[in-house]
Amino acid sequence: MNRVLVANRGEIAARVIKACRSCGVKTVAVYSLPDIASSHSWLADEAICIGSAAASNSYLCQDRLIHVALQTGCDALHPGYGFLSERSEFVEQCHQEGIVFIGPAAEHIRLMGDKAKARETVMALGVPVVPGSLGAYSDMDEAFAAVSDIGYPLLLKARSGGGGRGMRVVEEESQFHILFAQARSEAEAAFGDGEIYLERYFERVRHIEVQIFGDRHGNIRHLGERDCSLQRRHQKLLEESPSPVLDQFTRENICADAISIAKGINYEGAGTVEFIYDTLSGEYFFIEMNTRIQVEHPVTEVVTGIDLVAEQIYVASGKILSFVNDELDCSGHAIEFRINAEDPTRDFCPSPGVLHKWQPPSGEGIRFDSHVYQGYEIPPYYDSLLGKLIVHGKDRDEALTRSRAALQSFVVEGVATTIPFHLKVIEHEDFITNKIHTRWVETELQ
Ligand code: ADP
Ligand code: ADP
Ligand code: MG
Repeated sequence: MNRVLVANRGEIAARVIKACRSCGVKTVAVYSLPDIASSHSWLADEAICIGSAAASNSYLCQDRLIHVALQTGCDALHPGYGFLSERSEFVEQCHQEGIVFIGPAAEHIRLMGDKAKARETVMALGVPVVPGSLGAYSDMDEAFAAVSDIGYPLLLKARSGGGGRGMRVVEEESQFHILFAQARSEAEAAFGDGEIYLERYFERVRHIEVQIFGDRHGNIRHLGERDCSLQRRHQKLLEESPSPVLDQFTRENICADAISIAKGINYEGAGTVEFIYDTLSGEYFFIEMNTRIQVEHPVTEVVTGIDLVAEQIYVASGKILSFVNDELDCSGHAIEFRINAEDPTRDFCPSPGVLHKWQPPSGEGIRFDSHVYQGYEIPPYYDSLLGKLIVHGKDRDEALTRSRAALQSFVVEGVATTIPFHLKVIEHEDFITNKIHTRWVETELQ
């Protein structure tokens, strides 16, 4: 692999460019017109403008991206997360043009991208899945008929969903029809697929996910788990590794189950198997598998010392996993804070604008992944992630102490961010003593 087209924007594009550089691989960045100011557009060896602000006219233009890759002599493409990262037809198109797609095979993206099919596959492999419907429905009456096996509260989920969208919690029967119609139209608009499946809704669970990796030689390994229980509207805001609530027995089981799934489908590349975990019963259930690098991958990197994006590059070029013969040497505890341009005092409303002052923290155990800088103007067209603050300590206590100092010394002027929210969270007794759950921000944090 000599030259990689980085088919994404923002922090993940910058992150991929750095990994390529550390592997001695050249990069070509792409940017939309307003993103000329994003640092990813000048960190690469070369940068090409691919269109206007709307993603449908730039980052989602498959033909244009392939054309740019061929024109600039790229032999591989990294999709990052979001955008085209989980489009199986795009992977096939890359292959047809002789471009290596740095990610899993098209068939695995297709299989796991159909979340109802994924549940079926995982069930057949003997891993527990959330009790729910067998398939997905667009017909309301058929869906309603499936409720009797599940009961309330239940969760309506889009078969092709992602990013926490297209989901509705149904507390009781009287709400079913209206919420089903809402979920279906939201899913249709967001994912072009209005099919909905049903799951039993667990009100007080943790989100635990396992990072797995496979290579072309049949090796599959895990890199431990991440705990992403701090969420708002089913979207993650803060992630940590290792999970502070898993005992060793459960940890080994959940990681072994994630491996069984990856082995069962002969998976190649980086992937994440997501579960919900009931701390009261000790049970866990598969919810979905993401066939890409995750936003929160750095917490795993800092505790394992493995560069996951570099590993994606090795594996895609046919090499053996670099850590296949070693015991994983995990050390300490890591926490990632998503620093979003959102106003937590106004219901996390996006707050685009200019970063008049911008000084991220640094120091022992502090990493900051970002594409922005002082004077940067946040375009209103894309997600609100400004960067990810990753804090490492020898244990959770030290990570929390360092986090507090880092968040307090973070200087931002010009836009509202999630920094005050994160400070409030890490000072809260429930967070410190691990009493939180995926609904905690909405139901308990005042
Ligand atoms: P993960 O942590 O599993 O990568 P995220 O919740 O961060 O998952 O995001 C999942 C995908 O959805 C990502 O590809 C991200 O770009 C996208 N995404 C995240 N938040 C939003 C949002 N508010 N609107 C649209 N897409 C989003
Ligand atoms: P997405 O593709 O949008 O990430 P997920 O299936 O991963 O969708 O669900 C998003 C979040 O919603 C999860 O991280 C989890 O916290 C919560 N969730 C998902 N399924 C359930 C469920 N059955 N009960 C309770 N919470 C759930
Ligand atoms: Mg998910």
